[in-house]
Amino acid sequence: MFDDLRDLYQEVILDHSKRPRNFRHPPDANHQAKGENPLCGDRLIVYLTVDGDGRIADAAFLGNGCAISKASASLMTELVKGKSAAEAKALFTGFHDLCTCDDPPPLSDLVREEDLEKLHVLSGVRQFPVRVKCATLAWHAMDAAMAGAAKASTE
Ligand code: ZN
Repeated sequence: MFDDLRDLYQEVILDHSKRPRNFRHPPDANHQAKGENPLCGDRLIVYLTVDGDGRIADAAFLGNGCAISKASASLMTELVKGKSAAEAKALFTGFHDLCTCDDPPPLSDLVREEDLEKLHVLSGVRQFPVRVKCATLAWHAMDAAMAGAAKASTE
């Protein structure tokens, strides 16, 4: 791996998994969904506070899992904050495509360049199907929470 990419990998996976952002249960959360990935043992709950305009005012999560699932959840909560339901859905679809397609459509109009790089680092799991579920778990849960479902499945 090139040094730049290795540094970025460290930053994204290690930093976000050791000190996950928004690792809490906001008292005013009005949407939530569980995510479970039995293959790896990842379990988390995503909490969203959706305001009257349908915008995600706050996003957070709690749970336990591998470094990739936690890092991805941490990054997800940062990225969906302030997004409309449609934008959050587009981000979910876009990140899912990044993790599963060899030639995914660009996500660039939804996230800043530096965040896009982090998503690309996480999408390196593409080569490992079990890890794809770790990386997308929190995103599935966010999507389920927005849709009003109580539980997300990665199946
Ligand atoms: Zn995992």
